[in-house]
Amino acid sequence: MTEELSIEKNKIYDAVKANYTEITENIARAAEKSGRKAGDISFLAATKTVEPELINYAISLGLKKIGENKVQELLSKYEEYDLKNSELHFIGHLQTNKVRQIIGKVSMIQSVDSIRLAREISRLSVREGVTTDILIEVNIGREENKSGVLTENLDELIGEISLLENIKVRGLMSVPPICDNKQEISKFFDNMYKLFIDISSKKSDNVYMDFLSMGMSDDYQEAILCGANMIRVGSRLFGARIYR
Ligand SMILES: *Cc1c(COP(=O)(O)O)cnc(C)c1O
Repeated sequence: MTEELSIEKNKIYDAVKANYTEITENIARAAEKSGRKAGDISFLAATKTVEPELINYAISLGLKKIGENKVQELLSKYEEYDLKNSELHFIGHLQTNKVRQIIGKVSMIQSVDSIRLAREISRLSVREGVTTDILIEVNIGREENKSGVLTENLDELIGEISLLENIKVRGLMSVPPICDNKQEISKFFDNMYKLFIDISSKKSDNVYMDFLSMGMSDDYQEAILCGANMIRVGSRLFGARIYR
């Protein structure tokens, strides 16, 4: 590596370190404000477009969860992730015909929104002899072209999935619409939290409401204040994404 390149690289690594510290401090503050501890909130880093070496650097700083949103990219980076010290989640839209490629490789699939997808996860998990943890993705903004189940279909979907083998519902996930202000997005987060509490209170067999995954770079603190216990942050940690 030339000297210039290594100076550039050091800058990026230093920035990620500073960002990591800032985000964890903000998480702790928001957790406290909402009557919880920093340790109650999972910080997942969304790692799309980020080189494995930099991802592993973040893991060395204490990051415990990483998430990819494309199967192809996950597979191309899979051998390099430091998964001894971190969990790998799948957080993007998942096509049924690609489930096979990630079962047994990921700790959690956060984006299950149909019984068809759940059945395939169940079938392949049985075959591989693993149990796959999932979150149900909710289309809380009722957006036409977005993944996620609509709220009126949520109970039925969870009921059906709870009967499947080797798949375990661990909570809910959402990507709310882009909003102009914090109040607007907080309404979506509040609505997610209500669903989360409603479903928890039903105490259905084989349904565990352990995680409410919502909040990204621009709004993770609001999400925590509204009850999120898992946030997914990408660009605020790694810097603006460069698509190659
Ligand atoms: C990219 C991504 C994030 C993080 O987005 P940032 O705005 O960069 O923090 C969170 N969730 C999902 C599903 C993503 O694909």
